[in-house]
Amino acid sequence: MKINESILYPIGVVAKMFGISVATLRLYENEGLILPQKSKGQHRSYTDKDIQRIACIRDMINEKGLNLAGIRMVFSTLPCWKIKNCSEEERQNCPAYQDSQDPCWISKNADSVCGTEDCSICPVYSEFADCRNIKHILKKYWNPSSIQDPLKV
Ligand code: SF4
Repeated sequence: MKINESILYPIGVVAKMFGISVATLRLYENEGLILPQKSKGQHRSYTDKDIQRIACIRDMINEKGLNLAGIRMVFSTLPCWKIKNCSEEERQNCPAYQDSQDPCWISKNADSVCGTEDCSICPVYSEFADCRNIKHILKKYWNPSSIQDPLKV
């Protein structure tokens, strides 16, 4: 699939690209798997990163047999607190660090350090659109000298 970096794709085009319905794309959004851009009129458009993420979601469903809750759990493993370099105090107030089994962009609350940030442009969401690379991400942030909490140190 060839994707042009500078284009925003309307929802109908993206649905056609994947041979799925517009309702399915809205379901992915409602389940917190994708964060499309929304115009003032609530028209959704998708970046190349969103399309890469949708391809990955489709692969997890069709090839790996995951359901949407399972995919949310996969995304919840992204160590956002390491990527964003959150302090110990910030981690203690953040459900994404504590125990959430949802992606940080769903589980964050107003007290989270990034509570008011636009998650669709955050590197945790946008830079890791290819979920097949999650193991590489975990390796990058994993310190093997910490056995009790490998993502903490
Ligand atoms: S800004 Fe959003 S996507 Fe980024 S780490 Fe915070 S909650 Fe996650």
